[in-house]
Amino acid sequence: MTAKILDGKAFAARVREQVAAGVARLKADHGVTPGLAVVLVGEDPASEVYVRNKGKQTLACGMASFEHKLAAETSEAELLALIDRLNADPAVHGILVQLPLPDHLNEDLVINAIAPEKDVDGFHISNVGLLATGQKAMVPCTPLGCLMMLREEHGSLSGLNAVVVGRSNIVGKPMAQLLLRDSCTVTIAHSRTREIEALCRQADILVAAVGRPEMVTGDWIKPGATVIDVGINRIETPEGGTRLVGDVDFASAAQVAGAITPVPGGVGPMTIACLLANTLTACCRSNDIPEPEGLTA
Ligand code: NDP
Repeated sequence: MTAKILDGKAFAARVREQVAAGVARLKADHGVTPGLAVVLVGEDPASEVYVRNKGKQTLACGMASFEHKLAAETSEAELLALIDRLNADPAVHGILVQLPLPDHLNEDLVINAIAPEKDVDGFHISNVGLLATGQKAMVPCTPLGCLMMLREEHGSLSGLNAVVVGRSNIVGKPMAQLLLRDSCTVTIAHSRTREIEALCRQADILVAAVGRPEMVTGDWIKPGATVIDVGINRIETPEGGTRLVGDVDFASAAQVAGAITPVPGGVGPMTIACLLANTLTACCRSNDIPEPEGLTA
């Protein structure tokens, strides 16, 4: 079997078009422009690239973008004061604090200072609780993107066996919650899981969010399963360069799976598209305007 490739780049472009159309309608019908504020503390080069990309894509779909770059030695009090101002600013509908933060700043404290309705990353403790109890939440962007791709591929996910490898707060746990909400039978695997290969072979849907290059090989996969590879790992090539690979060994997995996301070009592009979708959703909710269909969980 050679798996169907789930093209996240093309899917993300469609999501961005939908967001742009939603933004245009909000402006024309309600005179409201959704705004996203991104806060970057310090000078991590990878984070700077992410923040620049987020700003560009925010503007490209017609939203307002507010970038706040703070020095690495910014105090917690200064950062919390900025978040307070953004919470109170009616032009800002979404707030994202780029992680990781420098060591002297308490990430949980900072994230939980964001107004939950503006928490477009979905990491605030209120949103975690709302998602876990099946209520209307802001949903973390990466798992939301994975869910969109799975729904597009399968239609209904009801009754399917799903295994999520990884139990982080930003990917594994919310992914499992979303699959459970769509009535999958969900198992979460992690570094202490026994006989993980056999467990994964039971999965109709296998999500790998581990951070270990090419750990999941073709013999872990049930024939015909859908494989979502969240991992982004940079490895060295024999030629002395580097390349990006996922947590799944694409070459062997694609021989067995029914459908699979590539790395790069799978889950990655969906993450920023879902951030834009969440900002539009947050703007609609705060203005009591119906949300566009298909952009939330
Ligand atoms: P974390 O490091 O926070 O979590 C990794 C999880 O994998 C942990 O739960 C850990 O288990 C588990 N794990 C580690 N080793 C093994 C093993 N040998 N067998 C089974 N489970 C194992 O990572 P994240 O969730 O933040 O990210 C996961 C991957 O996804 C990374 O490659 C990251 O770069 C990528 N990523 C991609 C995004 C995108 O936009 N595409 C966005 C976010 C992340 P335990 O809890 O027991 O330690």
